[in-house]
Amino acid sequence: MSSRPLRQRSGFWWALFAAIVIVGAGASFIGISVVHPPSTATASTGSVRPQADPTPTPTFDMRKYTINSPASRWVVVDKLRPLNPIGYIPPDLVHVSIASTFSTTLRREANSALVTMQAAFKRSHTSYGLVVHSAYRSYKTQQAVWDGDYNLTAKPGYSEHQTGWAVDLGAKSGKCSIYECFGALTEGVWLAANSYKYGFILRYPKGMQNVTGFQYEPWHFRYVGVELATEMHNRGIKTLEQFFGLPNAPKYNRWGH
Ligand SMILES: [Zn+2]
Repeated sequence: MSSRPLRQRSGFWWALFAAIVIVGAGASFIGISVVHPPSTATASTGSVRPQADPTPTPTFDMRKYTINSPASRWVVVDKLRPLNPIGYIPPDLVHVSIASTFSTTLRREANSALVTMQAAFKRSHTSYGLVVHSAYRSYKTQQAVWDGDYNLTAKPGYSEHQTGWAVDLGAKSGKCSIYECFGALTEGVWLAANSYKYGFILRYPKGMQNVTGFQYEPWHFRYVGVELATEMHNRGIKTLEQFFGLPNAPKYNRWGH
């Protein structure tokens, strides 16, 4: 009477143990299959991921130029950081020296850098060329440009174009003007990879709308100088907001909106 129930109990515990093993293995299998798709999906949507190499160059001086004055080549303008003063006009605007779809101006230093960049591009791509679609835009011009689309155009007083440091570039061929497909053209690919050597950054990279406030604009380049553009490139930091530790600026605040 005592041995049989013991065997039965022993059989019960073995069955329970086997069940735990099977359920455990099943759970870990499910766990693997559940965990992986979201991480793949995150990568494919281009969400913000940790930076490649956050180690600063020892000689790089983060405070060399202010990020607050619109006259500074390092000024950060976004949906939380309007130009101050809001009606600012740059001091040294010159007509852009490369082909443009209409007459437009840039700050002298940005224009010189653009000329150098165009020459470098044409040296390696003789049948191609860059054109300027838009560069400096005054507060008043931006009023006319702003169409109420919060994702693609900036409100007057909140546009980098008003600093005289930003330029919208296109292909001489006219293909994909101010369209995302510009990023896949020879011109767009070259600019994204090489513009930092001439002091320009792709200001609104893909997947960074929650940081910059703007969707991917492969045509919009911002002059910040070779020093900063190279430091950002070397550290794999794509936006000015992240580089300078500023808050994400996906939307205008309650005063700007
Ligand atoms: Zn632009």
